Amino acid sequence: MKIKLLKEEIESASIHHLQRISGEDLKKCYQCGNCSGGCPVSYEMEIAPSQVMRFLQLGKIEEVMKANSMWVCVGCLQCYSRCPKGCSVAAVLEGLRQTVLRKGEDFEKISKIPMQFLKNAPQQAIVCGFRKFVS
Ligand code: SF4
Ligand code: SF4
Repeated sequence: MKIKLLKEEIESASIHHLQRISGEDLKKCYQCGNCSGGCPVSYEMEIAPSQVMRFLQLGKIEEVMKANSMWVCVGCLQCYSRCPKGCSVAAVLEGLRQTVLRKGEDFEKISKIPMQFLKNAPQQAIVCGFRKFVS
């Protein structure tokens, strides 16, 4: 899965805004790696959960916005439950997704999803997918 964000979307994202909408204090993370170790989908992420936190601490939000991590995250909260500092990478990744979706940019275009898939997929999966990928 590869995402292409507009250059302006990446440039307008800020660490301050991300911390405000996620409610997370990025400085609290001390890079123990527990979140990455427990994340069931970190193997699919271009930047693992603990690395996301480190990149953001260093102000490298552009790199994180370009990576697929925020779209791959399934929101299971395993990272939050394992974090000794009470950080929620899930909330940070949700904040990144919202930064994009609130501008009206859909990650998935509903009209492009094959009807056969929509007919066969579980209703709950479709609703969850729309909530995560559609503005
Ligand atoms: S909420 Fe996302 S980042 Fe956290 S463990 Fe689950 S899939 Fe990984
Ligand atoms: S588990 Fe918490 S403190 Fe450890 S790397 Fe992940 S976010 Fe940072």
